Amino acid sequence: MPFPRNLTPNTLHPSIPSPPPMDLFSQPKPTVDPVALQQLKAQIADLLKLDTETTISINQLQCREPGCPPVETAIIILTHPAKQYKIHKAVGDITTADLVKVIQES
Ligand SMILES: [Zn+2]
Repeated sequence: MPFPRNLTPNTLHPSIPSPPPMDLFSQPKPTVDPVALQQLKAQIADLLKLDTETTISINQLQCREPGCPPVETAIIILTHPAKQYKIHKAVGDITTADLVKVIQES
């Protein structure tokens, strides 16, 4: 008996979604959009008038302090001395206004 041409194995057996990867931690690791990260670095370099040699390290972290939003971004600028800023937002949510504010307050 010939196999019906209009029925592919996929339509006969729709694929079952794979289960999410096992995570031992209660919260998933925050993911950072690399494009947003590059834009943020460019904004910081522009605001602080950094030269292209200056390293900017940006880490999106989980904040466990009481009363704080669950995610924060730590910005470290490896000038001499190094500067460090913390913004209680995800990398992709930080605006230029946030950067200006945190730089002025430091
Ligand atoms: Zn915090």
